[in-house]
Amino acid sequence: MTGNCYWYKTCPTCGEGRLFIVEDLSRQRLYLHCEEDELGFEDPLDLKSPDKVFLTLDFDYPCRFADWETISAQGWEEFATHSVDLAQAPKLC
Ligand SMILES: [Zn+2]
Repeated sequence: MTGNCYWYKTCPTCGEGRLFIVEDLSRQRLYLHCEEDELGFEDPLDLKSPDKVFLTLDFDYPCRFADWETISAQGWEEFATHSVDLAQAPKLC
């Protein structure tokens, strides 16, 4: 089965990575995950607040790229501004 994953904008920290919408399956929570520096951002509206940034490598939890169903259920549609085929997505956790 193929599908899409979604990303919001370029990472404000490194200026290079795309911020993918990822689902933390242990807490049913979405966050933005930078493909370059592995930073996570809990709140897309608050990308510049350092206290909202965490290093995803510091946490061990099952996660996956959020699908559209999950994104719309959580009201994150406005942050799914770009999509790429899962086959072309970066490696996650
Ligand atoms: Zn980054």
